[in-house]
Amino acid sequence: MSGPARLVTQGLRASVEGKEILKGIDIEVAQGEIHALMGPNGSGKSTLAFTVMGHPKYEVTGGAMSFDDQDLLGLRADDRAKLGLFLCFQYPTAIPGVTTVNFLRAALRAQGKEMPAREFMKRLSDEMAALRIDESFRSRYINDGFSGGEKKRSEILQLAMLRPRLAILDETDSGLDVDALRTVAEGVMRIAGPDIGVLVITHYPRILEYLRPHVVHVMHDGRVVMSGGPDLARRIEREGYEPILGTAVPEPARV
Ligand code: ADP
Ligand code: MG
Repeated sequence: MSGPARLVTQGLRASVEGKEILKGIDIEVAQGEIHALMGPNGSGKSTLAFTVMGHPKYEVTGGAMSFDDQDLLGLRADDRAKLGLFLCFQYPTAIPGVTTVNFLRAALRAQGKEMPAREFMKRLSDEMAALRIDESFRSRYINDGFSGGEKKRSEILQLAMLRPRLAILDETDSGLDVDALRTVAEGVMRIAGPDIGVLVITHYPRILEYLRPHVVHVMHDGRVVMSGGPDLARRIEREGYEPILGTAVPEPARV
């Protein structure tokens, strides 16, 4: 008997270059749920995303973390990906020399999800059309010379092709105009459903109008300081973070 797979962190602490950033995070996201993680710049949202995914620069210094009842500590990022974890990067990296097609085929193969060439090409075309990505992007090098919006859509394309069990979207909405934001949000909603858990990191409530999270968490200074329903995001939209955090917060940098 196995229910939905869950990502669970308990008292998770992590450091970057010797500096403690995460100061005890308890979070639980199950397949089928959409959670939003909000908070001012520098709260540690990206650090949490990298720590869950297993970026080697982020050192876990305390607490526990599991997915689908499997201990994540000690697993490399690629093993975590095989378990079904996926991260859409806040700042996607270009990989000159590796085309989108080759990258996706290799990633699917590595995860034991290879499919016949015809089926792969058909699915790729469908997903690219849904995300309004030009066909020429198949043979372009990943993120090489892509605009900000193209990079974000390319991340969602990877998500749509790989169909992970838990996806973390790290500010996939930042820097997008209203139309691109809607395309990205619709791309996420196309794959949302009982088989995928989504943790949407954002500091703008707008994308949440489309994604309709079940739970909203607010992070500040390495801790989750408040969790609530969708109303919490609306409150942040109206009032900003200061009344919730009880402290002045710096203006977010617009990326
Ligand atoms: P957020 O995503 O909420 O804006 P981050 O997780 O990026 O926050 O950053 C939290 C804190 O950790 C910041 O003070 C930032 O300077 C620091 N930090 C994050 N990543 C690194 C890194 N790779 N090297 C050094 N400091 C980092
Ligand atoms: Mg960040």
